[in-house]
Amino acid sequence: MSLQASFMGLAALLTVVSSAAVNDGCNALASSHPDKTFFPGSERYKFENEFSWTSTTYLGPSCIFAPQGAEDVQFALQTFREHQVQFGIRCGGAMPIDNAANIGPEGIMMAMTNLTSMAISDDTETVTIGAGITWPPLYAYLDEFGVTANGIRSGNGGVVGAILGGGPFGFMAYEYGMSNAARSLECVLADGTLVTASAKEHPDLFWALVGGGNNYCIVTKAVLNTIPISSALIGTVSWGSNVTDQYIKSVEQFALHGAEHPKASFEGQTRWVPSRSPDISFDGYLWYSGEGDVPIGLENFTAPILPITRGNISRTTIGQWSNEFNYAPPLGTRAIFHWLTSNANATAARIAFDTYYESIASLADVEGFSTAFSMLPITPIVTGAPRGNAMSLGEDDSPAIWYVESPLWSNPEDDERVLRVHSEANEKIRAKLSAAGLGPLPFMYLSDIQKSQIPETFPAYGARNLRKMKAVRDKYDPDRVFTELVPGGAKIALA
Ligand SMILES: Cc1cc2nc3c(=O)[nH]c(=O)nc-3n(C[C@H](O)[C@H](O)[C@H](O)COP(=O)(O)OP(=O)(O)OC[C@H]3O[C@@H](n4cnc5c(N)ncnc54)[C@H](O)[C@@H]3O)c2cc1C
Repeated sequence: MSLQASFMGLAALLTVVSSAAVNDGCNALASSHPDKTFFPGSERYKFENEFSWTSTTYLGPSCIFAPQGAEDVQFALQTFREHQVQFGIRCGGAMPIDNAANIGPEGIMMAMTNLTSMAISDDTETVTIGAGITWPPLYAYLDEFGVTANGIRSGNGGVVGAILGGGPFGFMAYEYGMSNAARSLECVLADGTLVTASAKEHPDLFWALVGGGNNYCIVTKAVLNTIPISSALIGTVSWGSNVTDQYIKSVEQFALHGAEHPKASFEGQTRWVPSRSPDISFDGYLWYSGEGDVPIGLENFTAPILPITRGNISRTTIGQWSNEFNYAPPLGTRAIFHWLTSNANATAARIAFDTYYESIASLADVEGFSTAFSMLPITPIVTGAPRGNAMSLGEDDSPAIWYVESPLWSNPEDDERVLRVHSEANEKIRAKLSAAGLGPLPFMYLSDIQKSQIPETFPAYGARNLRKMKAVRDKYDPDRVFTELVPGGAKIALA
């Protein structure tokens, strides 16, 4: 028998073994928890498989398990280990990396959909949530008590996914810092133990979880700090299409001086929807949580400097505001994120902006193509807390500008073309920024990366932190369950 034939025989044998294992795993879950185990063909299976920001993640696991509490998670984890079945863990499904949270027929997806408890403490200083909670319902719940949480700006993303991704990063990060929303996380370790990770209990695990993704345990609950903000002036606005110079200048100025007004914040979204218009529109969100009707600190984004042409700023709660949107993209839409950073400098932003849109202009005829190039001015308050975090983010990492590219398109047949054009665009942007000495900067935000950026993400946390994160993984998951049985997402052991 040739070497090639024997490899093929081995591959076929492994496929049979793995499909027998996954069948055994699904059967074990279904026989003890029939009402929480879902198979292809059922409505619930379809809902869970497709609960995601992008159809690239509809991978069709052999079955889906939706636990109703920590004991169910413990049972499932024991089952996965016993049968050596691979699995995915999904919270809000907002991370647009195909296998970050779902898995194909070779495995089982654990969907946290049923873990939707929310309970505020008597002093309203903390809120305990189940691992299936997404931001809009949480904000709406906290509205009732006149407080809120330091969460993401928009999107129906999961709370726990955002914490594990290193955030959340939103409006209030400009006053309170990012990455410090959680006070503690309850999770099931690889050996089935239920632990609480916080500054006091298992502090090494707590440190590694914020920014450490799905490498350490399955989070079942989170205790979040609340923030005493009951309402804010919020604007979903546009400045039209011919304001490139001033818009970019305003972004730069906010990065440089925004820390003087920490109750103000801005997220810029430039958008191109070629089926609607050849022009790029300059849109964004404005936020001011101080008193009164004048958004102090946002002068560079309002008349006379940059007059708003659509939308307005009005006082509302983040619960009301975030629940106004219908977040679901049309079913079946393809999507990715791509992460980029530069110095807080208008020339750098102009290089990134111009190079991006020039390079992707050829995608105008791709069916359903549209894109957003977000510009996020970063102040030292955003990156300064909590000190000593796993991502090595500190005050020295700002002022800066962070960018997120988020293209959408319709058909899998165009995946290769869209990804190739974006890859070429980003090579050019990085080369030009480097040549100008204006970026890219070291920080990588796990929550917003493209799959191809996984290899550079954990190394960007710095050699010392990476070593420590690996040591924490060795301590809490010595058998590498979350590396080998959870293949999706960024793997610390492989960084
Ligand atoms: C439209 C949109 C807007 C966004 N806006 C913002 C924003 O303003 N600010 C910001 O910071 N981010 C933002 N994001 C990014 C988003 O917060 C991150 O991608 C985040 O990781 C999504 O979390 P999720 O739970 O929804 O994702 P999922 O895809 O469900 O999970 C993400 C990762 O976390 C792991 N995971 C999830 N739950 C658990 C668990 N219980 N235990 C262990 N591992 C788990 C998964 O396995 C996966 O690897 C946005 C995303 C979208 C699509």
